Amino acid sequence: MSPAQIIDGKALAARVRAQLTAETAPLAARGVRPGLAVVLAGDDPASHVYVRNKTAACAEVGFRTFDHRLPATVTQAQLLALVAQLNDDPEVDGILVQLPLPAGIDARQVLLAISPLKDVDGFHPENLGRLLMGEPRFVACTPLGVMRLLEEAQTPLPGADAVVIGRSNIVGKPLAALLISADCTVTVCHSRTRDLAERVRRADIVVAALGRPETVKGDWIKPGATVIDVGTNRRADGKLVGDVAFAEAVTRARAITPVPGGVGPMTIAMLLSNTLQSAKRRAG
Ligand code: NAP
Repeated sequence: MSPAQIIDGKALAARVRAQLTAETAPLAARGVRPGLAVVLAGDDPASHVYVRNKTAACAEVGFRTFDHRLPATVTQAQLLALVAQLNDDPEVDGILVQLPLPAGIDARQVLLAISPLKDVDGFHPENLGRLLMGEPRFVACTPLGVMRLLEEAQTPLPGADAVVIGRSNIVGKPLAALLISADCTVTVCHSRTRDLAERVRRADIVVAALGRPETVKGDWIKPGATVIDVGTNRRADGKLVGDVAFAEAVTRARAITPVPGGVGPMTIAMLLSNTLQSAKRRAG
């Protein structure tokens, strides 16, 4: 079989950002400049990198960002008060609370406090519920990005057998809902799934979001399948790898995302897209 099409998430994300920039300019000219509030508590180094990337992406497309850096000693009450203030601020279209929050903070309570109308991460139960009912408002950014990558690879969806590995609330579950809405037949696998390899072998579409480096082997991939690798794992030698053994899988798949340069850039692009959607609602 000829090697797979490598789905270039970096290039696709750049095209999405260009489109968002074009849509932002006329809004801003009418006085509605999209605004994203970013709350970062504590000093987790990875979180600082993520927030820096998200803030830079906002600036690139012409959004405002409202930066809130808080010490690791911040209290639950202080965080909830900040979220309440941001919920009421008419210039804030989206609120992002970077996880993980410092020890002792109940992250669930903080995320629940975010107005579902500003929940551009799509983590609020109301937004997840709406997605399940086929009435999506804000959909979690990584699953949205996966759907755009499948589209980019011209993956036929209706009737396709899709296997999603991972059942988290932020990736696996919302993605399963999106694939069902797109008329795929979806199998959701997790750590208690029996014979994962056999299930993957039957799949036309494989989305790996388990967070275990290079677990999905090349000979699990049905020839001609589309493979989307959500995993980002740092190997002992420092190399960033996905959940799929890329070098093997690329010889069998029809199309596959690389790590890095696949899902990651699309996640940020979808955060921007959700924020613009919120600003458009403000603009009326
Ligand atoms: P998570 O909350 O840790 O969930 C992992 C899921 O994988 C769980 O449902 C778990 O099953 C399942 N799982 C673990 N080991 C397994 C195994 N050996 N076989 C089958 N299933 C297994 O992780 P997440 O937040 O969904 O993230 C998943 C991965 O995606 C991580 O590598 C994360 O870094 C990455 N990620 C990347 C982006 C991006 O933008 N690139 C965004 C989000 C996440 P149980 O439910 O049974 O425990």
